[in-house]
Amino acid sequence: MPSREKKTEELKVYGLESIDTDKFDRQKRISGWDQNKISNATVMVIGVGATGNEVVKNLVLTGIGKLILIDYDFIDISNLNRCVLFNRQSAQNKDYKVDVVKNACEELNPDTEIVAIKKDLNDIDKSLYQKSDVICSCLDNVEARLQANNYAYFYGVPFVDSGIEEFFGSIQAVYSEEKDAACLQCSISNSDLDLMWKKFSCTGQEIQGVDGETIAKIATIITTTSIIGGLQSQQVLKFILGIDYFKEHGNWNSYIGKPLIGKQLNYNGLLNTFRVVEKLKNPDCWTCSYDKRN
Ligand SMILES: [Zn+2]
Repeated sequence: MPSREKKTEELKVYGLESIDTDKFDRQKRISGWDQNKISNATVMVIGVGATGNEVVKNLVLTGIGKLILIDYDFIDISNLNRCVLFNRQSAQNKDYKVDVVKNACEELNPDTEIVAIKKDLNDIDKSLYQKSDVICSCLDNVEARLQANNYAYFYGVPFVDSGIEEFFGSIQAVYSEEKDAACLQCSISNSDLDLMWKKFSCTGQEIQGVDGETIAKIATIITTTSIIGGLQSQQVLKFILGIDYFKEHGNWNSYIGKPLIGKQLNYNGLLNTFRVVEKLKNPDCWTCSYDKRN
């Protein structure tokens, strides 16, 4: 049972007529839910691999108005163990991930508008950041997630990042209007930067490719990506449902709760635990401690 007590006058009452005919009936019954906010929201999802598949699936089914999907990669057979929106044919054809995800989403919910962009993050039109209500990174490299963090912070758009490996995963939210909260760049150390420049993965794991080139591949499984993708998409929904209240009152609506801003939620599948850690704001961080007025 939820710990929060509801006052009788705040309970929503729905008529019998919507029970089986409104596809969003059950979520509309959640206290603080506003389906109009969801239906009018635009979310950018950067990376539509394993975690991205889960995030996109969840957002489309909840009725998000518009998704901007960014990924220049195509589908391999080795993606099929953990990507619910891909299929064997698309892997054999080496179709672009964003195209296949767009087609699958149109089956799940034709009311969600999908914009599929087959570009490297460096090459996208930067105005897309401003056109988004929330930005999600489901990436496997540090360089791109920092770039997304920096643009999202600069434009004042909430940002939710995720990372996964084996039975472990984490998510973190960033929002520039919470001035004292850390961003992703805050906790980047010199050794992280060294790894970044060596083009390792976010985990530092390395394997040798057939041509001698270093290729990073992360060990993972769909149980981890679906847990992390679920938590990440829930953070997106919390921002969409709660941000107007925050802008008006300076705090977060108790029915929706505060997103994980400046905090990291770590999942450990070996110990069966979730732990939230406060990320320290770096006073020298050039992303969030830099004053735009100077
Ligand atoms: Zn920072």
